[in-house]
Amino acid sequence: MTRPFNFSAGPATLPESVLEQAAAEMLDWRGSGMSVMEMSHRGREFGQICDQAEADLRELLGLSGDYAVLFMQGGATAQNALLPLNLIARKPERQADYLITGSWSRKSWVEAQRYGDIHVVAQSSEARHIDGREQGSFTWVPPVAEWQVRKSASYLHFCSNETIGGVEFLNWPTQQELGVHDVPLVVDASSHFLSRPFPIERAGVIYAGAQKNAGPAGVTVVVVRRDLLGHALPECPSAFDFANVAKESSRFNTPPTYAIYIAGLVYRWILDQGGLASMDEANRVKAERLYQFIDNSQFYHNSIHTAVRSRMNVPFVLANESLNDAFLAGAQQAGLLALKGHKSVGGMRASIYNAMPLAGVEALIDYMKTFEKTHG
Ligand SMILES: *Cc1c(COP(=O)(O)O)cnc(C)c1O
Repeated sequence: MTRPFNFSAGPATLPESVLEQAAAEMLDWRGSGMSVMEMSHRGREFGQICDQAEADLRELLGLSGDYAVLFMQGGATAQNALLPLNLIARKPERQADYLITGSWSRKSWVEAQRYGDIHVVAQSSEARHIDGREQGSFTWVPPVAEWQVRKSASYLHFCSNETIGGVEFLNWPTQQELGVHDVPLVVDASSHFLSRPFPIERAGVIYAGAQKNAGPAGVTVVVVRRDLLGHALPECPSAFDFANVAKESSRFNTPPTYAIYIAGLVYRWILDQGGLASMDEANRVKAERLYQFIDNSQFYHNSIHTAVRSRMNVPFVLANESLNDAFLAGAQQAGLLALKGHKSVGGMRASIYNAMPLAGVEALIDYMKTFEKTHG
């Protein structure tokens, strides 16, 4: 069976072998006589699935015992509230600091304001001249030297890959670079989690909804340094208190069992491909191909500052916006799905996550060339 290439930003394409394995195991998981969906979350079988998923994720990330892995529900959006509920009371001032580089980090900042004294350390909402070019709103990242972090803040939040804007950065600063010593970084890595190695030891919390690059919708992974557990506000729901979830190995209450199972198959697939170093290399090649093609064209354009262009989410516009519908209809016919850009930025967006093969990117480029020839 040949399937089209799916460029959806999320829920997004999954490795075909993962889907095939899930199909083969659907009615009877490895002789248990049950579908994974039918198993008790307290039973031996699901215990194996969940523990293996955690072990494989730890291996992929090279996680030390200093960090707990939590499989939670509610998506990254729920974390916008759960992070302050769990962390803001670490210090008596109840302060948290936020960097704003696009739609997702802005949403996090808005939600956090319900829980304490929230401050913006820097933002890229204004246009700025960089390297002799005018960079528009949310197409660049403020240099770390400009982040005004408060020493009394309980944590510093940022989004390391803005899925909508297409801005990605890996310069997660050290405490020294920030001029603080106990302001742990809290990173929304939803849309590039497991796409490349991260400087994990610089962060206190890394969280990601699985449905972008690392599994199906329904499970949110939270990697949290253990010394940050145990500070939840009294009004934090007990099922969302990180300390409870950690203590019960993500089974404080019924977790999203099937989503954890599929995420586990994705982790195993990544390990079989050679781990994050292999993902890193493959993703670099795919993104370079697409950006090079766009940059060499007069017909397509990407406006993100080159140093912070996302390797996962590539937004682009057509020189003639009135051709958008024709572009999308033709793409669909050519077996290239879900290229419509987010409504807030318009144009197109190609999400090229781990599970998108190079052949998919090549097919997209071929289609873009043909479309330009016939409409340019
Ligand atoms: C998709 C996304 C979210 C929201 O995820 P939900 O699962 O819909 O809550 C938050 N942050 C980033 C970076 C995302 O890509």
